[in-house]
Amino acid sequence: MTQYIYAFDEGRISMKDLLGGKGANLSEMKRLGLPVPDGFTITTEACIDYLKQNEQLPSEVKTQLIHHLTSFSERTGKSFSSDDDLLLVSVRSGAKISMPGMMDTILNLGLNDDNVKKLAEKTNDARFAYDCYRRLLQMFGEVVYGIPMLAFDTYFDDFKNQHNYVNDADISAEGLQTICERFKEIYREEVYKPFPQEPLKQLEEAIEAVFKSWDNDRARVYRDLNDIPHDIGTAVNVQEMVFGNSGEQSGTGVAFTRDPVTGENKLFGEYLLNAQGEDVVAGIRTPQDIDTLKSQMPDVHQEFVEVTKQLETHYKDMQDIEFTIENGKLYLLQTRNGKRTARAAIQIAVDLVNEGLISREEAVTKVDVKSIDQLLHPNFKEEALEQATVISKLGLPASPGAATGSIVFSAEEAKEQADEGKKVVLMRPETSPEDIEGMVASEAIVTTHGGMTSHAAVVARGMGKCCVTGCSDVEIDTVNKTVYYPDGELHEGDIVSVDGSTGDIYLGEIETVNAEHSDAFEQFMEWSEDTARLQVRMNAETPQDIQAGYNFGAKGIGLVRTEHMFFGPERLVEMRRFILASNHDERVEALEKIKTYQVKDFEEIFRLSQDRPTIVRLLDPPLHEFLPSSDEDIQNVAQQLDISTDILRKRMAELNEVNPMLGHRGCRLAVTYPELYEMQVEAIIESVLKLQQDDIKCQPEIMIPLVSTVEEFTTLKERLAATITQLENDANTKVNYLIGTMIETPRACLIAQHLAKHCDFFSFGTNDLTQLTYGFSRDDAGKFINVYTESNILQLDPFQTLDTDGVGQLIQLAVEQAKQVKPEIKIGVCGELGGDAKSIYQFNNWNIDYVSCSPFRVPGAILATAQSQAEESER
Ligand code: PEP
Ligand code: MG
Repeated sequence: MTQYIYAFDEGRISMKDLLGGKGANLSEMKRLGLPVPDGFTITTEACIDYLKQNEQLPSEVKTQLIHHLTSFSERTGKSFSSDDDLLLVSVRSGAKISMPGMMDTILNLGLNDDNVKKLAEKTNDARFAYDCYRRLLQMFGEVVYGIPMLAFDTYFDDFKNQHNYVNDADISAEGLQTICERFKEIYREEVYKPFPQEPLKQLEEAIEAVFKSWDNDRARVYRDLNDIPHDIGTAVNVQEMVFGNSGEQSGTGVAFTRDPVTGENKLFGEYLLNAQGEDVVAGIRTPQDIDTLKSQMPDVHQEFVEVTKQLETHYKDMQDIEFTIENGKLYLLQTRNGKRTARAAIQIAVDLVNEGLISREEAVTKVDVKSIDQLLHPNFKEEALEQATVISKLGLPASPGAATGSIVFSAEEAKEQADEGKKVVLMRPETSPEDIEGMVASEAIVTTHGGMTSHAAVVARGMGKCCVTGCSDVEIDTVNKTVYYPDGELHEGDIVSVDGSTGDIYLGEIETVNAEHSDAFEQFMEWSEDTARLQVRMNAETPQDIQAGYNFGAKGIGLVRTEHMFFGPERLVEMRRFILASNHDERVEALEKIKTYQVKDFEEIFRLSQDRPTIVRLLDPPLHEFLPSSDEDIQNVAQQLDISTDILRKRMAELNEVNPMLGHRGCRLAVTYPELYEMQVEAIIESVLKLQQDDIKCQPEIMIPLVSTVEEFTTLKERLAATITQLENDANTKVNYLIGTMIETPRACLIAQHLAKHCDFFSFGTNDLTQLTYGFSRDDAGKFINVYTESNILQLDPFQTLDTDGVGQLIQLAVEQAKQVKPEIKIGVCGELGGDAKSIYQFNNWNIDYVSCSPFRVPGAILATAQSQAEESER
């Protein structure tokens, strides 16, 4: 029989797959002897089986549930029907990988019309008992029966207004009793059935609802965003309730063992007195700083500080801890590795090494590659900030970054406008998990309620999205689409700038500057480079990009796309003159002009690269990207080239290709017009010779693209080598150069051992290789790939993440065969996949020497190479 339920003392941390993160950690804390309320976990396997069996709870789950409730009663003396020792439980989701706020939770389960009276009697606090009951009615109604929260909230708020209650805590016991009665009526009106009075039925229905919530839209979106598989299911934790809302000696809170924004080694947390679970996270009341607890309950504070230290040392990582205090006694409800900004992640990793808790290799694995992007984002320019008009300075710096956009008031609006290409700032009183798609689409998020651990703050930090919460001097009126701030009003579409690092909001657009790196970042990247085996180069051709890539730690240039040097209007004319030339002489004339540009460009590139290897890819212009299309363009080009539009159209018709991506491009162009590559190679070598006179030793690596036969390569190489020899002889010196090829066609992979004999290096162009292996046009696949991924025909977009089974097989084969015939051949990857962490994990397993990616992806790629190597060494 499958064991679907484990008591907390049966589990341990290594059982995360089965018990989920929360369940496994609760078990672990129990093992450490920490104060954890008793309970049990229903496994992820039960969830998977439930979803597979058309949402039917397996009968064994029901049997085992009764068994566990019985043994629970034997251990604690508590039961759902006991007069003296009433059992109430919380029911919470807990997947293997934490998905904060994405699934559902129910508290105070077990209460019904009888039990609420027993609770009132036992605690001598009817107010407390009915407060618990109304919360259960509300949460159960929403989570299990899908009754809109608004149905309950509207009545609750009207009731408070009618009786002039300001805070929830002001409502009397009788008032709460009336509210409970009304809430039960809402069940009949909304779902035509009563609130279930039988606790076991409540529990079964609640478990099913949590299992179902695994597949809700927001959970799916969150998993897609965070690369969490959709088929691992969630566990459910059933745990004895402890009550943070049972008076002023009670409370509930969330704390991080270090600052999750800066990484500072200092307890960071918030709590609310006389409050229950979700109040803090939902951001409905603004919580107090954890330091205040020291004066309010010194003993509890002291115990809590000790527990947090114990947990951090045990887990060797910063912990995010949920706790409840019931009548002066501390309970722990959850611990997990805390989510943090990239800046904090790096600071914490470096500090943990310096504190002797972890090794450098372990530190490297503690920072999410995706989060590195956050550190590369711009900040507002100091001088511009001084001039800017302030909207609010009271907000909390929930997630760093600097962003500008026009205001929207709903997640739907954010998504709609972002889809139209607008930059938007989402402004809400608070966010809820339903807003996730709108949050993804926005440049920044601003809320007026909630603290640093509110939903908006936690989710935005996870996404690396600029976010300010708790802007208490601003009112956001979503109905009238107006923001009231101390000095005025803002309306939908107005432009604001948001500083997620300070919590300030400004009017209008503000100039930004690029990020500066901390000492911790430098140290961390140094350890990453020491750990990595694969080198990281960059794909770049402009001086700014090249400089940025070198600043980020690139070890050379893996791809200069020379055709990208001709996108400017002046150069485009010359390139068109070459393409449209009708004879050899015209072509040579056009090339002479192009060469003057190229020599200048290469000189600049090699000067920046110095002795670092620099691959210049010879021209690979898909013709359609370079020819005019509209009538107006055709007229302009005809004028620029001093020919008639008729001649131009005729020439274009001759050149026209049905499939330009499969057409006359790459080395094929040079086979037809050898003078093209000869001109480029002359430009490369002449610029290198010039720099050599200044004692700058360059390492040019000349790359021939889109090769699919050995003869294409050898024919071109022979001519280019002769050109170089001629230049060397003329200058009476030698140049240290390599000639290699891109591997971009499946045939090139299959004949790799023959090609390798003639090549100094290979570089996989995974964009074209993926296009040609699948037969998916890289320009048009975007129209259907998302349908493929949504319907699981493809797990991932192969243009973004390596298709290991197909494209990966070809790469592996080519690498093995090439290295067999020429062990010293240098092999790299320069397509988009060269900057993708998942793909880098694969490349690291094969005999590849380097990856190359765009400059801003370089730090992430270095980290990914380090992490894959650290994992490899652990195996
Ligand atoms: C490639 O095909 O992967 C590549 C790097 O070349 P391009 O994208 O310029 O075709
Ligand atoms: Mg290519």
